[in-house]
Amino acid sequence: MEISRRGFLAVSSLAIGAACAGDLRLRAQEAPATKFQDLRGGAGIFTGRGGTIGWVITRDNTVVVDSQYPDTAKACLAGLRSRAAHPIDFLLNTHHHVDHTAGNPIFRPAVTQIVAQRGEPALQRRYAVQTSTTATQVYPDTLFDTDWKMVLTSETVLAHYYGPGHTGADIVVTFQNAGVVHMGDLVWNRWHPFVDRPYGASIVNWVTTLGQVTARYPADTIYIFGHAKPGASVTGTQADVLHFRDYFTAVLDYVRRGMERGQSKDEITKLDVLPGFEDFEAPSKTLTLGAVLGVAYDELNAKA
Ligand SMILES: [Zn+2]
Repeated sequence: MEISRRGFLAVSSLAIGAACAGDLRLRAQEAPATKFQDLRGGAGIFTGRGGTIGWVITRDNTVVVDSQYPDTAKACLAGLRSRAAHPIDFLLNTHHHVDHTAGNPIFRPAVTQIVAQRGEPALQRRYAVQTSTTATQVYPDTLFDTDWKMVLTSETVLAHYYGPGHTGADIVVTFQNAGVVHMGDLVWNRWHPFVDRPYGASIVNWVTTLGQVTARYPADTIYIFGHAKPGASVTGTQADVLHFRDYFTAVLDYVRRGMERGQSKDEITKLDVLPGFEDFEAPSKTLTLGAVLGVAYDELNAKA
């Protein structure tokens, strides 16, 4: 246990990132089925492999959020085309991770614009260089700093940047009339999340963001989550978002208390279960509570 944890902490951040995507890919390949699900007001989700895709289809417009991988993107695009005759107006990328953007080349010919936060393409490019995948990248072409808004015939789509969270450039996308909000990977429902600190993540600001999001939208908002543990839903309520916020608050409190007591990073990251959050599971051998505590330690230590 001790050796494997030290070994884990020693691997590079790139390897952790790659392991994150790889593990999720492996897990998903065990159940490669794809599925469309309606939510409300013309909005819905598509699940296949990687981060949950959100979409809204109105009489005249289609908007898609995230693109998964090429194979499931093909299934998603075909399904959207069978549901709507008009072209896809916008694809938004909630952040640069491969399981949210690798399907961009499939969507590219079908969409008018690909939208993301201004910092996203640099992160996507950096990861592509590190993984020798630059040739297959399609980058967002419509970038914004804090707010993006598109008024369509019968839906208004908003995107907002709350500052660093899961990466340095995550956006939250709102289908205003439907009352549906796509959180990207800012919520992992009952799963220990990947925190991409080398790519700009901040747990401290992530906590702030989740509070701001829930304060901003009506209580009956339907939230879409990037990931969820098996048996938990990739959609949920304000209570689910706040439960995840409280999980991170407990993580930060636990690490701060350990640091105040003079505990080492190894000692702090030994914890297997976070009290009050026994419902959280590890998505993989590397995406564990210990990994989250380790990133929290690094973040707080850098601030100190
Ligand atoms: Zn992600």
